[in-house]
Amino acid sequence: MFYIDGKWVEAGQATVHPEDRGYNFGDGIYEVVRIYNGRLYQWDAHLTRLFRSAREIRLSLPWSADDLTRLATELLVKNNLTEQDDSVLYLQISRGAAPRVHDIPNGIKPVIMAFVRPKARPVEDLKKGWTAQLIEDIRWLRCDIKTLNLLGAVLVKQYAKDAGAQDSILHRNGIITECSSSNLFAVKNGELHTHPATHLILHGITRQVVIDLAKANGIVVHEKAFDIAFLKQADELFLTSTTAEVMPLVSVDGEAVGNGRPGPVTTRLQALFEQHIYDSVLV
Ligand code: PMP
Repeated sequence: MFYIDGKWVEAGQATVHPEDRGYNFGDGIYEVVRIYNGRLYQWDAHLTRLFRSAREIRLSLPWSADDLTRLATELLVKNNLTEQDDSVLYLQISRGAAPRVHDIPNGIKPVIMAFVRPKARPVEDLKKGWTAQLIEDIRWLRCDIKTLNLLGAVLVKQYAKDAGAQDSILHRNGIITECSSSNLFAVKNGELHTHPATHLILHGITRQVVIDLAKANGIVVHEKAFDIAFLKQADELFLTSTTAEVMPLVSVDGEAVGNGRPGPVTTRLQALFEQHIYDSVLV
């Protein structure tokens, strides 16, 4: 069941207004939330980021955090996911429908849409890792807002695929930012390096969990920009996201990272992350 604008509908019955600004402009925001064992993981952090995204695009939401929590819980129940592991919840809010003009129409009513879908944890990939291709970051300058306008991300991901890699590592004038739909970490001499949470990257929820876990376990973290030369000399690389978790990157542009297998710091963080999942949702 999909939830759209106050109604519960099957996928085939869902309709979008032709002048919905999400549809016309990508004018809206969204979140993707992990569900482990039928429980929302890091829900409060996702809500906080959603409300921040709304403020940043000047979208005032008629729903409270409690309203959205009720909606998420109802989605799980309606889709019989209360006991089921490995799902994701997608929630988007478009600015709504109005005759097409670029500036923000007065009195426009936001349209909310949400669904849940079973999605397995990428257990095999987590052991093997992914390959990556270095690609120029062609996105806009407010990557900290989780907006529906994802064409830049679509293209850089496709460029990576065209080059035979599984994901892209993005750089702006030689400075590494993040990946097409995840944050990037480099490991050098046992310490973590990642781009600071500025307007040039999405402030990933998984990124923050990993930083906190690393610090709590004595791993030094540098939230400081680094360049391509540093990336190419990293001992280990991994990306983080809600669906990919802590995913090792084993090659960049066809060259092995380290010995071409997931490294010890990455593997340790994967174990810490997995423990964190269980501690969070299996209470
Ligand atoms: N960066 C970008 C560009 C993303 O789209 C995402 C989300 N898929 C992330 C980072 C990771 O964020 P999170 O850990 O909150 O999923």
